[in-house]
Amino acid sequence: MLNAQESTITTAASAACWACSAQLEAAALFCAQCGKIQPPSGGNFFAVFELVPRLNLDLGMLEHQFHRLSRKLHPDRFARASAEEKEWSLAQSSLLNDAYRTLKDPLARTYYLLKLNGAEIGEEFAGRNRPENEMGTSRVPADLLEEVFELNMQLEEMRMGRKMGEVDEQLQSDLKQAEKKFLGLEDEVDEKLHAEWTNWDEAAESGDETARDAAQKSMIALLDRRRYLSNLVRDVTETLGE
Ligand SMILES: [Zn+2]
Repeated sequence: MLNAQESTITTAASAACWACSAQLEAAALFCAQCGKIQPPSGGNFFAVFELVPRLNLDLGMLEHQFHRLSRKLHPDRFARASAEEKEWSLAQSSLLNDAYRTLKDPLARTYYLLKLNGAEIGEEFAGRNRPENEMGTSRVPADLLEEVFELNMQLEEMRMGRKMGEVDEQLQSDLKQAEKKFLGLEDEVDEKLHAEWTNWDEAAESGDETARDAAQKSMIALLDRRRYLSNLVRDVTETLGE
């Protein structure tokens, strides 16, 4: 069964081949009938690889399609093509590379698919309508409030010490401990994210929009938390000078 979201994508991007007028698949780089390169159609990254939008992606298939299409877009193949076709092949090549880089990375893929489904997610939405704490850091997850407060003080102390040319070994080891803990929490988030991938995929497949929205909401919260944890780890790593 084709769900609403897939059919929207298909209609939005369907067009006819400029050379032979055959109907094109959504986001097709080449015409299936005459094999001519097509101008970029603004189709989504999954369609570029002829893949159904899924979070549990067949990475072997993705890689296979990437290499197949890369070969077809090789500049040597366009040596005698028109200037327009040359230009399209370069544009499609860069689209293909962007799509591959995004889809093969689990987090980037999740962000991309959620945004494709209208989710407001990422740094540009971080902290929106949410209170800021005293440290000026937005969205401290409630269960981490105390630890983050403590951590920020330790980081400040460490930086001050550095400026004076002192290294407090106890402080250093506390910070390393904190770094390890936050990395562990990141792993927990990743596990929960993977579980939601499956929920999302199954809901999309069966056309269950309520379940899909629930999975989506949960993933947005998990990604917010993950981004927050990554920033903490980055701050600690930078301060430790590793
Ligand atoms: Zn054609």
